[in-house]
Amino acid sequence: MPRQILWFRRDLRLGDHPALAAAAAEGDVLPVFVLDDALLAAAGDVRRAALADALTHLREATDGALVVRSGDPARILPALAAEVDATAVHVSAEPFPYGRRRDDRVREALDAAGVAFVETGSPYAVTPGRVRNGSGDRYKVFTPFSKAWLDHGWRAPADDPETLRWCRVDDLGDLPAAPAVEADIPTVSEASALARWHAFLDDDLDDYDTGRDVPGDDTTSRMSVHLKWGTIHPRTMLAELERRARGRTGRRMQSLLRYRTELAWREFYADVLWHAPHSDWRDLTDALAALQYDEPGDAFVAWQEGRTGFPMVDAGMRQLLAQGWMHNRVRMLTASFLVKDLHVWWPHGARHFLDHLVDGDIASNNHGWQWTAGTGTDAAPYFRVFNPVLQGQRFDPDGEYVRRWVPELAHLPGGTVHEPWKAAAGYDHGYPERILDHKEERAEALDRLQATKR
Ligand SMILES: Cc1cc2nc3c(=O)[nH]c(=O)nc-3n(C[C@H](O)[C@H](O)[C@H](O)COP(=O)(O)OP(=O)(O)OC[C@H]3O[C@@H](n4cnc5c(N)ncnc54)[C@H](O)[C@@H]3O)c2cc1C
Repeated sequence: MPRQILWFRRDLRLGDHPALAAAAAEGDVLPVFVLDDALLAAAGDVRRAALADALTHLREATDGALVVRSGDPARILPALAAEVDATAVHVSAEPFPYGRRRDDRVREALDAAGVAFVETGSPYAVTPGRVRNGSGDRYKVFTPFSKAWLDHGWRAPADDPETLRWCRVDDLGDLPAAPAVEADIPTVSEASALARWHAFLDDDLDDYDTGRDVPGDDTTSRMSVHLKWGTIHPRTMLAELERRARGRTGRRMQSLLRYRTELAWREFYADVLWHAPHSDWRDLTDALAALQYDEPGDAFVAWQEGRTGFPMVDAGMRQLLAQGWMHNRVRMLTASFLVKDLHVWWPHGARHFLDHLVDGDIASNNHGWQWTAGTGTDAAPYFRVFNPVLQGQRFDPDGEYVRRWVPELAHLPGGTVHEPWKAAAGYDHGYPERILDHKEERAEALDRLQATKR
């Protein structure tokens, strides 16, 4: 049977892998990963370390057959196809702007060599671009998208191939060295994805609807890391949710449905980016094109380092540095603080997040930022400015989250951590004073908004 190449990208697993199933059905499979400078240059050390980990596990999972090459995939894949005499290169379709451009080039190069480029499935339950309204247009707002996404539905998880034989080359290529990182990042492998998923289902899914907003409880699934690297497919998760929905009622059902809705946000943002590739680093809409921003300066560095003097903001920024991850509620708050208190354009913050997030994903990140900044789809109105103290008091009422990440405030009891300026001993352990007056900066943000309308 003719040999096939499986080019792994954001699908670093073997289970529920439609492209692997398609390749294995055609012949022996050469598993390949290409270290593409264009992507590596945009990834921070944390993501490079996660990738190195994931590839180490993938090589083990492929019985040592995984080939790793560095350079331009449009040159490497035709050469490998010639080396093993493969008739096709199989992939999961890539919907993001860079990946689409790269895949066009690779397809062309393979065409010229007489090798097929076969796309099967994607890293999403529904491939971006497929969910359309009655007129065939994209959805601009989340809620109707999520309903149409549900109506569209998705296939069941792919079966394991009936036979899977790896083919091998002598020169496997070195796995990338993992940069040393201070952040404590999780293991990125298919086994750890499944273990994490089942632990979440058993321990925390039932209370997800309310628990998801409490950063101190830390009960969200943390599956974003695995979805980012494709160590699990979202359809595996959705199929399991469907199984567990049977017989569920009340709060438990509400929680399950809420979790499915969060997965739909990931699909929505990928769909938005598929339709509007310019929105990766630019405003999706021009609604705020005239808004005046400030250049990032010392205050931006204080924000990056978690030294703004606002406990909830600082806790989030320090969690990001310590774990390569931040709770969603605090991602929204820290993003709002940068855009509306420091008046810095969202791409500066989005870049910092992508440099440090192990789940850093251009669609969810950059559209999460745009949601907060009011420049994206489904935008939170620009005039809604998060109050960093009230957010802390509401979502971290006992102050647990802040005490965990800001040791200079660990001596303050309960919710008093959110206002160290009111506590006699608030600054005894070196916590910095506030770098700005939130009330003033909120007014400034609203003035700037007004100015765009004149
Ligand atoms: C400014 C900002 C930046 C963000 N950057 C990223 C990013 O780079 N990568 C990323 O995966 N998510 C990002 N998010 C979305 C969200 O914060 C994370 O997906 C979530 O915190 C991951 O933790 P979890 O897996 O425990 O989430 P859970 O609450 O357990 O949610 C389950 C899954 O649903 C999806 N999801 C949940 N909320 C969102 C959301 N708002 N948007 C898109 N998908 C969502 C994720 O895939 C997540 O893993 C960002 C949000 C904001 C506001």
